[in-house]
Amino acid sequence: MPSTDPAAAPDPRAVFLRRESEVRGYCRSFPAVFRAAKGARLIADDGREWIDFLAGAGSLNYGHNPPEVVAEVVAYLQRDGIGHSLDLHTTAKRDFLLAFEDCVLKPRNLDYRVQFTNPTGTNAVEAALKLARKATGRSGIIAFTNGYHGMTLGALAATGNKYNRAAAGVPLSGTTFMPYDGWLGPGIDSVAVLEKYLDDPSSGVDLPAAVIVETVQGEGGINIASTAWLKRLEAAARARGVLLIIDDIQVGCGRTGTFFSFESAGLTPDIVVLSKSIGGCGLPFAVLLNRPDLDARWKPAEHNGTFRGNNLAFVAAAAALRHWWTGRAFESEIAAKGDTVRARLNAIVAANPGKKLTVRGRGLMNGLVCADPDLAARISAKCYQDGLIIERAGPHDEVVKCMPPLTIDAADLNRGLDILTAAVAAV
Ligand SMILES: *Cc1c(COP(=O)(O)O)cnc(C)c1O
Repeated sequence: MPSTDPAAAPDPRAVFLRRESEVRGYCRSFPAVFRAAKGARLIADDGREWIDFLAGAGSLNYGHNPPEVVAEVVAYLQRDGIGHSLDLHTTAKRDFLLAFEDCVLKPRNLDYRVQFTNPTGTNAVEAALKLARKATGRSGIIAFTNGYHGMTLGALAATGNKYNRAAAGVPLSGTTFMPYDGWLGPGIDSVAVLEKYLDDPSSGVDLPAAVIVETVQGEGGINIASTAWLKRLEAAARARGVLLIIDDIQVGCGRTGTFFSFESAGLTPDIVVLSKSIGGCGLPFAVLLNRPDLDARWKPAEHNGTFRGNNLAFVAAAAALRHWWTGRAFESEIAAKGDTVRARLNAIVAANPGKKLTVRGRGLMNGLVCADPDLAARISAKCYQDGLIIERAGPHDEVVKCMPPLTIDAADLNRGLDILTAAVAAV
């Protein structure tokens, strides 16, 4: 039942429509007023329920309110744990760093300094670009077609989307776009194109400080760089003293099947940015992992920010790391669920030959690619009507982006896929 008197508030969204900025986005596609959420389920104020295949755009890999994390956060608040601490030493930050060493760095034989930035992904990207420029003394950044790195000016300059770029209001400078893997069509090696630009002294492209890349482009439409391409990119950068920044904000924390998305390709990036799911239960948190000799280029407090000490997020992050990233069981679980999703998506493609659909994905990040973007819009809208929240991505919003929490149980996963299957048949 609605919690407000229908006579007094005929539209439960009234205050949002009247007061919230026009810039709001997701709530236009999914206009319910949500009250609670658990696991892979979102519950509206009027009691309606949805299965959540949006998962906070990758911020809810462990689902909504995972009890293993929430219990620690609640206990921490109840014992008057530090809330805000700038960058002071706290026990919560110490626990996070220890958990990060034990569960992430040591098992992967990685040695990075951990830099805390303000708590959004774009904050971490800005810090990464700044450090790369400082450390190399060069200003240029190479980004890739369809890349997405955030909305503040430095990160936006490395983001391809025309609509977002146009809102900047100033020239977006310092970045050159190169073709992502596959962008020029099959059989064209776009790392060779990049190398040609970098090596021809009259190409017009100066040697950059860094390349910034996503191993799988999330907002760009689930475009997957091959292992060979990634390895060649790393080698091309390294041979020229150009730093490799991996933006693992959306695809890290297990989304593609391993903690870091670049593990399967065996890369050792110079800088890694993480955010979204690192906060354990949707709490804002971002970190930069820096090669120690690069990190040494920072002077104390040269790059700072008020909310680098979000202790609740430290507590949640440490709990999530220790719960899901001790041992390899979680990786097997993601792999099995990913296989289920791709099998079901391939069955949808086979059952709808006239609709020109294809499937692509890795781990639990999979997309149903529609030749007709309007079809993708209708599929997403029909799913919403029928109890599934699922967003679109890609340059024309043509990819229905299937991104459930990694912890989703088999029943909810199949229920969501049933709704999607029926929606594609119906539109
Ligand atoms: C979401 C995202 C960002 C930006 O993160 P915000 O927290 O929205 O600033 C950057 N890079 C990638 C790959 C992302 O998915």
